[in-house]
Amino acid sequence: MNSLFERISGKTKLIALLGSPVSHSYSPRMYNLAFENLGLDYAYLAFNVENDQLKDVIRGLRGLGLIGFNVTMPYKTNILTLLDELSTSASLIGSVNTVVNTQGRLIGHNTDGMGFVKSLNEVGIQLKGRTMTLLGAGGAATAIAIQAAMNGLKGISIFNRKDDFWSKAEHTVEVINKMEVDCKCSLYDIQDYDMLRKEIENSDILTNSTKIGMVPHVDECPIPDGTWLRPNLIVTDTVYQPVKTKLLQLAEQNGCKIVNGLGMMLWQGALAFEIWTEKAMPIELIRKDLF
Ligand code: NAD
Repeated sequence: MNSLFERISGKTKLIALLGSPVSHSYSPRMYNLAFENLGLDYAYLAFNVENDQLKDVIRGLRGLGLIGFNVTMPYKTNILTLLDELSTSASLIGSVNTVVNTQGRLIGHNTDGMGFVKSLNEVGIQLKGRTMTLLGAGGAATAIAIQAAMNGLKGISIFNRKDDFWSKAEHTVEVINKMEVDCKCSLYDIQDYDMLRKEIENSDILTNSTKIGMVPHVDECPIPDGTWLRPNLIVTDTVYQPVKTKLLQLAEQNGCKIVNGLGMMLWQGALAFEIWTEKAMPIELIRKDLF
């Protein structure tokens, strides 16, 4: 690998990650590896931004003429009013994770939902005409629900607990049912086990997009046991720490096809890479590094 002084010149273009915290992020490693591999004169750096500084930071990035940036927690929603334009999916989802600077105009995209769809497509799973039970109503779940509806899913049953995300779930259901797509969306309490079991039985895909099962709570599972699962059910989890959650372990034991959260992470990054550089990210190289 070239050393920094060989890589960075007066012409190198910067792409940034804005969030708080950001020091744990895999993104700088992923993008810099991809730039290096393709011989692109870009560098990617993460910046820990305080809430009261966000507006000034965006003004600064505009002034510097940055190619673009990623936005992560907690700014995926706050950033909306600071941008000039939103993609259709970012606007429907109501959050942005990727911004591109096109001739001085900051355009916001959301690649999380499409990243999820791509992670299924690459293992031969298509959404068109299928139904999904979706657990969760936070940032990831909202992106998945909206994008999956845009990609032809015909039914989504969202389950969430009655916490701060419940009203967000109600809003998502309203948005999807008003979209000009053939998708019916409903909302249920995740603690209503009778309804949850029934909807899983009626679905082609079960997706966990809550924090259940994520480190350190690796023994938690959104369903009580494997009798709820059948071999032709596809089970996916957005959690990638651990790579195989308790839910995915149960699903695998019961013969289901499983998809973990690493593919979504990889593909949301690849889509952002393409938006900035108009080039395909070297997926297999990154997958090897990541997995
Ligand atoms: P969020 O904070 O926006 O939403 C959290 C969701 O989890 C809400 O629906 C909340 O009600 C639910 N929840 C939290 N604790 C719960 C519990 N104990 N029981 C039931 N429900 C609970 O978070 P997010 O950004 O949407 O992330 C959700 C999960 O998806 C996380 O595990 C995160 O790591 C993962 N994620 C993965 C990717 C990827 O690329 N694979 C991207 C984003 C998020």
